[in-house]
Amino acid sequence: MNVNRDRSIGMEEICTHFRDDPSRYMGAVTPPIFQTSLFTECSGNEGGMEGRYVYTRVSNPTTEIAERKIAEMEKAESAICFSSGMGAISAAIMHYVKKDCHVVAVASIYGPAYRLLNDYLAKFNIHTSFVKGDNLSEIEECINDKTTLVYLESPSTYLFTIQNLGELSCVLKKKGISTIIDNTYSTPIFQNPLSFGIDMVVHSASKYLGGHSDMIGGVIAGRETDIKEIAQNERELFGAVMSPFDSWLLLRGLRTLPLRMKEHMKNTMEIAEFLSQRKEVKKVIYPFHPSHPQYTLAKKQMSGASGLMSIVLDLPGDKIIKFAEELHYFYRGPSWGGYESLISTVGAHEETDSETMLKGLVRLHIGLENPEILKEDLAQAFRKCAL
Ligand SMILES: *Cc1c(COP(=O)(O)O)cnc(C)c1O
Repeated sequence: MNVNRDRSIGMEEICTHFRDDPSRYMGAVTPPIFQTSLFTECSGNEGGMEGRYVYTRVSNPTTEIAERKIAEMEKAESAICFSSGMGAISAAIMHYVKKDCHVVAVASIYGPAYRLLNDYLAKFNIHTSFVKGDNLSEIEECINDKTTLVYLESPSTYLFTIQNLGELSCVLKKKGISTIIDNTYSTPIFQNPLSFGIDMVVHSASKYLGGHSDMIGGVIAGRETDIKEIAQNERELFGAVMSPFDSWLLLRGLRTLPLRMKEHMKNTMEIAEFLSQRKEVKKVIYPFHPSHPQYTLAKKQMSGASGLMSIVLDLPGDKIIKFAEELHYFYRGPSWGGYESLISTVGAHEETDSETMLKGLVRLHIGLENPEILKEDLAQAFRKCAL
């Protein structure tokens, strides 16, 4: 079935069938991995960035299937894949900045994106003002006549600060300022920022889009004109192109994305409620838990929340580490978005709260295990660290 744009289709059909075309691939239901560097000039070579395929740094048929699916999911005109989330983020930022310009960004964004804006771009005399991100006036106050870009991440992935996307894009459009949002947390299943007027969406495909903790990748979705320029400049020149094999893994991940997201959300809602009842837990931070200070806004602009959440533990740093070590089903490690539950004790040794971290903060990724088992696991680990 070659499902195309004319039909009104849901996320499930986009993920399973959109732009798949077995008749092009000898009937194979799974598209082949076009593991090739170059394409020859011959009849039958149609498509690609230049009207035909030329070279895999420029375009590749396996990668293009993933790009078209993700564009459709994000309600974007076009999308383009990169070899990592940071490859996509740096390309998107470089597309919008120029020498001597000014950027406003949310302080609790992904760490390397913060470093790119705060440290690296200084060599082009590009400076960034960082804001908490939970109110418009703070952002407006930072804007000056050199501001070309506002960089958002909503929700951010430790503190889960949320930006009001509709309100922000309306104000910034009038000022001619462009907006990028990192939508990795929500995935296109739970939030479509372009529908609120945001200019460009970036994703780390290494998280839920891939979904099996077996690949590194990134995606940008946005207007056709912007994506074309990025393809010819930031992707072709910097070269952070997604490999055909990773594109194939991404396609495999996308087929079950709607199912997985539903399950991550169901499990995480249960765990968040369970943890909010525990005396060791000072605070639960999850966009869809009623205790979140921006719960109403979250419900308004997101159709769901994913499997990542934070808690603040009322325990000394060494007890927090012990708690993590006692867990059987939560691996200790960075990243998230796969099938597995994870714990990161990032705030265990913070002395005080800051704009980007809270003292005692522990981040949990709730995987696809049975939530009853995860609750039992958390309860036994709490018992072992009782003071
Ligand atoms: C992991 C992550 C990134 C970076 O993606 P990579 O694929 O690791 O380069 C960017 N943003 C967020 C929110 C992330 O969690």
